[in-house]
Amino acid sequence: MHRLAERIDRIPLSQTLAMAARERELRATGQEIISLSLGQPDFNTPDFIKEAAKQAIDDNYSAYTPVNGYVELREAICEKLRRDNDLDYSPEQIVVSTGAKQSLANAILALVNSGDEVLLPTPYWVSYEALIRLAKGVVVPITTTMAGQFKLKPAQLEAAITAKTKLLILNSPNNPSGAVYSHKEYQALAEVLARYSQIQIISDEIYEHILYEGEHCSIAGFEALYDRTITVNGLSKAFAMTGWRLGYVAAPLEVAKACNKIQGQITSGTNCIAQRAAITALQAPVASIHYMVDAFSRRRDLVWEGLKHIPGLQVARPAGAFYFFPDVSSFFGKTIAGHKIGTATDFTELLLSQAHVSTVTGEAFGSPNNIRISYATSEALLTEALRRIAVLVNH
Ligand code: PMP
Ligand code: GLU
Repeated sequence: MHRLAERIDRIPLSQTLAMAARERELRATGQEIISLSLGQPDFNTPDFIKEAAKQAIDDNYSAYTPVNGYVELREAICEKLRRDNDLDYSPEQIVVSTGAKQSLANAILALVNSGDEVLLPTPYWVSYEALIRLAKGVVVPITTTMAGQFKLKPAQLEAAITAKTKLLILNSPNNPSGAVYSHKEYQALAEVLARYSQIQIISDEIYEHILYEGEHCSIAGFEALYDRTITVNGLSKAFAMTGWRLGYVAAPLEVAKACNKIQGQITSGTNCIAQRAAITALQAPVASIHYMVDAFSRRRDLVWEGLKHIPGLQVARPAGAFYFFPDVSSFFGKTIAGHKIGTATDFTELLLSQAHVSTVTGEAFGSPNNIRISYATSEALLTEALRRIAVLVNH
């Protein structure tokens, strides 16, 4: 019997990745699963980025890079932050990591002490909670509702703050709800935060470009918060580069140095080829990825029309990212196709076993009445998945 560290028991398996693994197993047994679980664009990485990576290999990029990333890449990130977000950072304030997930891990480990409270509006992305637990922080969920567009309200924020509050994690566009905060909404939250100087903010902006309504707002742009905000972003979603593993933080210098210190002991830095390709990706005009956003937009309309007509599902139209987050609690206590439904997890199991459609339970996102449906897949597969779900639910 192995004596594992107690921190292993503090965190669950990533439910998004666990569902992806489950699908692979079922496929290996010959089942035809439509995957609406993993949040990963189904596009190929654009050719101009692939070419940059091939060139980097031919140019013999192979050695360790600076821990925080090539300076040319950090300069390209600063330029991107100026161009897209009107934020002013210097290359020393940037740390490039192995995906935004590692950026988040670095930042949380750099900031959170045992017992520190971290405010987490629900629904929240799965890994925030686990990373806070790894750091021995205390997760303080703040419930948002579908009726309230899944957005944190200033009064709710203020009511959750205590002397132990260390950090607030914001994510717009949101995974899993698709909510997008307007400048005005962030301004109202910023006014509360301005009064509590002990609170730092992590702003996860990885879905910045996957936006259908309104404009993206970076909370670091509010003057009172710039010195307390860690902006997280990455290339996985906008550039269809999930497997390349490249994300970054833009942070106050002291926090950037702390992230760099942790990373220097854990990974030594990000893969050099992915970094060279990222320079090319970030320097390209945003218009070069619009074809993917347009496709996501059409799929959003298709899934919205489909889900709206499935009785029992309560559903909101997302303004960004590529997920729907319907409430399935009206099915609790019912039996469908011989399966008793008591929880959202039961519902996802039903969809997987009977309709062969994979989704993720809202329990993983702190919202036990909902399930997450990713529409980062083809219109043909989405149409078929919706048909199967409707048939099953109408059973
Ligand atoms: N933040 C959010 C909200 C996400 O959905 C994801 C997953 N794609 C990440 C961060 C991590 O992204 P990656 O590590 O692929 O850059
Ligand atoms: N972020 C994606 C998701 O939410 C990918 C999986 C993961 O990184 O956990 O599905």
